[in-house]
Amino acid sequence: MPTAPAPAETQPTMCLLHGDYHPMEQDCWAATMDWQFARPHLEGQEARDAYLAAVERQMLDDLVRSH
Ligand SMILES: [Zn+2]
Repeated sequence: MPTAPAPAETQPTMCLLHGDYHPMEQDCWAATMDWQFARPHLEGQEARDAYLAAVERQMLDDLVRSH
């Protein structure tokens, strides 16, 4: 039986909610959607770059909080 590719939902994705790279859960997607809805002027690559920058800030915040 051929191995079907995993659905997109189970692929690791940069998660804004948790500041992490992991398979997204419903809460994770909700946070991502909220972020996008709050920035309707961002499109395409610009939106992706801004999103990744936001996730990186979240990662740094988590690092600061854990120390
Ligand atoms: Zn997450």
